[in-house]
Amino acid sequence: MKTKIKKSILLSLTLIIAILIAGQFSRETYSFFESSEETNNLSIILMIGDGMGFEQVKLGRWVEKGITTNFTMENLHLKLNVSTVNIDGDTTDSAAAATAMATGKKVQNKVLSVDENGTILTTMLEIAQEMGKATGVVTTTSIQHATPAGFMTHVTSRYLTAEISRQIIEEANVDVLLGGGDSDFTVEQYLIMETNNYTIVRDKAALIAAPIGKLMGIFADGHLPYEQERDLALTPSLAQMTRKAIEILDQNSKGFFLMVEGGRIDHGGHANNQVNVALETIAFAKAVREAIAYVKSNENTILIITADHETGGLMVQSEKLDSTLPLFGYTEDQNRTIQITRANQITVEWSRTGHTSKPVPLFGYGNVFTSLENNILIDNTEIFRIMNGYFNGSLTQINSTTFEMKNRNITLLLLLPTITIFTISYRKLKRRKNQQVINK
Ligand SMILES: [Zn+2]
Repeated sequence: MKTKIKKSILLSLTLIIAILIAGQFSRETYSFFESSEETNNLSIILMIGDGMGFEQVKLGRWVEKGITTNFTMENLHLKLNVSTVNIDGDTTDSAAAATAMATGKKVQNKVLSVDENGTILTTMLEIAQEMGKATGVVTTTSIQHATPAGFMTHVTSRYLTAEISRQIIEEANVDVLLGGGDSDFTVEQYLIMETNNYTIVRDKAALIAAPIGKLMGIFADGHLPYEQERDLALTPSLAQMTRKAIEILDQNSKGFFLMVEGGRIDHGGHANNQVNVALETIAFAKAVREAIAYVKSNENTILIITADHETGGLMVQSEKLDSTLPLFGYTEDQNRTIQITRANQITVEWSRTGHTSKPVPLFGYGNVFTSLENNILIDNTEIFRIMNGYFNGSLTQINSTTFEMKNRNITLLLLLPTITIFTISYRKLKRRKNQQVINK
């Protein structure tokens, strides 16, 4: 009897050691860049795929590139996993996640860049403005929606749309604003923007033709149409908006901060619609390529591509894809038809219609990232710290706080039997001791 207990304890101890090895439990910090000599002209492009987990990236890639080829963003030299939970440790919404990335502070869902006392949390965009940099916000949703609003405004609820609109127009002073949300702006608000020397554009042609200078492009009453339904001649793509924003912001000699959101991947996820998730992710990846092209020739810029959370619990299962790939020589419309067909040839599974707490990807591009360890798990607030550290030219450390992802499944698998065996043997031991006491 006694040796049996000893054996169980030994077994559970072995399992614990196995967990530690498999999980590589660590709270390590990783230095990631030295002070930069030149800090007065640095720029950051932050791109957020709303609801874009690893599986959403995989789905988009299979449709666009086939199962063996990566998106360009997946080949960038920095790859991390990001934990997205909110201040309560619960599944986040886009508001709490935007606040975490924009300010480095965790808040409750629905809250945009204020703390629990209602005090304003300064955002990365505002820090850039204080440094004299140009700023831009680009999205495929309403410009008042949670992710863009988190960088520009401060409200206790993302649903206070009129107040968000007011702050965008009267206080935010963002140089380039591109997205939807016309029905939540008033005629007077557009007049204010005109008085403040903004060019206001309503369609793709006007966007492309817009002069260098402050720009407000509002292309839909609410969200921009899904890529699947977009009028290709009338409504700009996310890539076209991104290109224009960079072209304008690049004029500022002190650099810029640009946030670009692929906002409707999330909506496709909520609807468990694999075609929309695939096409929105592809549109996002195309916008990323615009940013990569810029960073390639502008070494004073970093590009961070990530997501605010995963939506739908998507699992990409299998495919019966034919060999037709969307190609360069085809028209935009022909390629879209091919993409829709291919998206329907993939078998997927969804676990819900809401968000999940699954870690999301982060891809980084820029000279300062070359020395950083890959595939560690970081908290989403670290994204603010990376950006802030970059702008300040200060030595920054990145904190990895949990298990390394590659062994996480093994770890979780081992955890349950360990706890069970340990509890049983501990109880037996205790009972024995009690008996011994009684026997005495
Ligand atoms: Zn959502």
